[in-house]
Amino acid sequence: MIVILKEKSEERQLNHLTEWLKEQGISLHMTKGLHQSILGLIGDTSKLDINLLKQMDIVEDVKRVQEPFKNANRKFHPLDTVIPIGNTVIGGGSMTVIAGPCSVESEEQIITVAESVKGSGAQLLRGGAFKPRTSPYAFQGLRNEGIRLLLEAKKATGLPIVTEIMDLSQLELFDEVDVIQVGARTMQNFELLKQLGHLSKPILLKRGLANTYQELLMSAEYIMASGNENVILCERGIRTFETYTRNTLDISAIPVLKNLSHLPVIIDPSHAAGAARFVPSLSMAAIAAGADGLIIEVHNDPQHALCDGVQSLTMEDFEKLMKHLTVIKNAQTACLED
Ligand code: PEP
Ligand code: MN
Repeated sequence: MIVILKEKSEERQLNHLTEWLKEQGISLHMTKGLHQSILGLIGDTSKLDINLLKQMDIVEDVKRVQEPFKNANRKFHPLDTVIPIGNTVIGGGSMTVIAGPCSVESEEQIITVAESVKGSGAQLLRGGAFKPRTSPYAFQGLRNEGIRLLLEAKKATGLPIVTEIMDLSQLELFDEVDVIQVGARTMQNFELLKQLGHLSKPILLKRGLANTYQELLMSAEYIMASGNENVILCERGIRTFETYTRNTLDISAIPVLKNLSHLPVIIDPSHAAGAARFVPSLSMAAIAAGADGLIIEVHNDPQHALCDGVQSLTMEDFEKLMKHLTVIKNAQTACLED
């Protein structure tokens, strides 16, 4: 349920209203706008008397929110959420690019890629230390050592780092990680999501291979309901009948998720396409469609990569793509202003 407050509401009246709601076990989320403020009500609102609420002096209107996700809902929080990370932000009309290898392989590899993608304009560095692999015989990542090398790359370049957590037992290793990624296969590990909700650092939540928008938003809700509002949604391709590409990039996810939610939405064109030659087109389409950013796999030697080399851009191709993305982003901003 949301309560829209009158433009001129007195502090005293507002306190009275919030106390009354809290007494009934309702928790509140307040969004102060320039002209209008909105109070989002979370909890069992079924017993609240809407008519009583509507009669209050400071109340303009009361609306029931049908969707089961509340904290993540744009109705609760009409303005875009903008998440600060290091010297940059994600959300609110900016274009934030996260780039780096699928997996951290060596100090030389991660620092070479980090310096290169930084020079091309990427704002964050990605790299997997714990890798979810379909085969138990495939390279599983350097694990603790991988995190250590990412921190070295962060020290060398100043780029904030993004890396994936697969299990709660790994959490203590993530203290200095800037953004914790929850992968597609882990999207519904609810115990993990609840614990990540107790942190304040940003969580990059990837959509599962066969999950709906609502399921993705409910997973975000798990994190937010525990107190962490810094959630970044990521569409990374879904399973369809098409097998030519690794997955099918669902471009609709961008306008739909941004309509349903205030959270930033980014696109992973690499895991969607599964082939480097399709990554530039999908990246440009995502920015044109209003995505807040991209997470792109880039490798210094894709042919010898230990994981996902086929879909990794070379550092040179990434540099070229960044120039094209700037053009697309400027055009997209101009269209919005029109
Ligand atoms: C990744 O980003 O390295 C990854 C494994 O992604 P996803 O969870 O989307 O498959
Ligand atoms: Mn990968």
